[in-house]
Amino acid sequence: MKRRDFLGITAAGIPLLLAAKANSQPAPAATSLRVKTPVVVSTWDSGITANIAAWPILSKGGHALDAVEAAGRASEDEPSCCVGLAAWPDRDGKVTLDSCIMDGNGDCGAVSFLERIKHPVSVARKVMETTPHVLLSGEGAQAFAIANGFPLEDGKLSPDAEKEWKKWLEKSKYQPIVNVENRKPAMAIASPYFFDDGSPNHDTMGTIAMDAKGGLSGMVTTSGMAFKIRGRVGDSPIIGAGLFVDNEAGAATSSGVGEEVIRICGTHTVVEQMRMGRSPEQACREAVGRVVKRNPSKAKEMQVGFVALSKTGEIGAFSIVKGFTFSVTNSEFPKGKVFLAKSWF
Ligand code: ASP
Repeated sequence: MKRRDFLGITAAGIPLLLAAKANSQPAPAATSLRVKTPVVVSTWDSGITANIAAWPILSKGGHALDAVEAAGRASEDEPSCCVGLAAWPDRDGKVTLDSCIMDGNGDCGAVSFLERIKHPVSVARKVMETTPHVLLSGEGAQAFAIANGFPLEDGKLSPDAEKEWKKWLEKSKYQPIVNVENRKPAMAIASPYFFDDGSPNHDTMGTIAMDAKGGLSGMVTTSGMAFKIRGRVGDSPIIGAGLFVDNEAGAATSSGVGEEVIRICGTHTVVEQMRMGRSPEQACREAVGRVVKRNPSKAKEMQVGFVALSKTGEIGAFSIVKGFTFSVTNSEFPKGKVFLAKSWF
């Protein structure tokens, strides 16, 4: 990626940003990206796969909710470390999946700690559309899925997941690892939250979209932190943490250390900031700043990133440490384009 392609990284912007960091001044001027709508935005460069599944629906005038569900299903079908049944397990060797979906009118559904079901995002949508509830978890979520025709898969680890889990067991370091992507050696930070080897991996998939009518929707799907304690649930299925959507303000999704995102009601914070008039990038920066402020020295060792889409079709993102990317697909970028978010450190 060329330097000029990085969102908001301009010769004029860098001194402003540095000054803001040094003096804890308010966020620098908005550098969010204004795009043509309909548009779909996903976390990470692997989000291109999700966007490619969503775009045919959006480009034909379809509903953003259908588009984001298609995005989630495409990610769940991909072999990857961090989404779907082929992903890395918890520390007991079981893959447990979290997902949520939300429409701009406030309708939402979610599943957490779901095992042996291939498409958690579609189960989340069923919860939203056919029950009075928002979140089903564990055995109950699985029983609900089966009752609604979702096949029960065999529960075996993928060969890659089995290899990684065994490798991890050898170290006997019972520390959960955030499945952060783009972890090139150059960005290496010694931290229990990152993979050690810098190998390119896939991450939690968060997708937000605006359809041709201006309606917003979003979804998140993930296996959560690799080698987590059994039963752990992160931000991804929590409405207002991993995802929040409101047609009157905007949509936001997150990736990174879910516990930190939950503590600050991350995406709700981002959307509320946009409602108060902040640009998507400023709104994401505000949420990141709240995580950093809680514990600045710990924050340097972890990643939390937010990406947001305002009701006026502006996109912005911000992360704690460098490396958080997001993918945008619309009529200007029909094959998708990857942007690097600005970061606090
Ligand atoms: N946010 C996810 C979780 O905490 C993990 C990730 O995005 O890497 O489960």
